[in-house]
Amino acid sequence: MRIALDFDGTIADAASAKVRYAKERWGIELTPATSMRPGALPLMGAERYEQMIRDVFGTQLSVEMDPMPGSIEALERLQRRHDLNIVTARFDHEGVFAGQWLAKHSIRVGSLTPTNRGAKVEHCVNLGAKVLFEDSVSELAHFDDHNHAIAMALLETPYNATEERASGWHVLPDWAAFEGLVERLSES
Ligand SMILES: [Mg+2]
Repeated sequence: MRIALDFDGTIADAASAKVRYAKERWGIELTPATSMRPGALPLMGAERYEQMIRDVFGTQLSVEMDPMPGSIEALERLQRRHDLNIVTARFDHEGVFAGQWLAKHSIRVGSLTPTNRGAKVEHCVNLGAKVLFEDSVSELAHFDDHNHAIAMALLETPYNATEERASGWHVLPDWAAFEGLVERLSES
């Protein structure tokens, strides 16, 4: 089965990388819940937020991100039976570091596509993906405006906990739940 996977916040722990960066560079105390733009801006301002994004996603710091809990183990199992494809909103030059991260953790993927901050829906449809696993509510919301048969899987995180979910989404607490979903989808 062809699977589309987001990278930051789904496979790699981008939130913790931002929390660490803000603390070390400016002594600013972010939490995972305040690590995304709406939560972080009141604490650090737009200029520092953009600097953090450039450095965390566009430098070697990116390769040093921790895995999300259970992601490596699940990907090792999934890659034996399925075609894994990374679809990330990163810019091209940032996507290179995501590729290095995956190589470092010995995860083989069929493709890695940076959308350069663009929506992922068209690419996932062209890919023929049966499911997309994502931590971004706004990204999944784009799909609801299109006709497609891709199953939408949202990883629950501290920063998306209060955002509204659409009724058809699979809202999943962890990677084990995603493996369960993949099993059900590949049987159907
Ligand atoms: Mg993400």
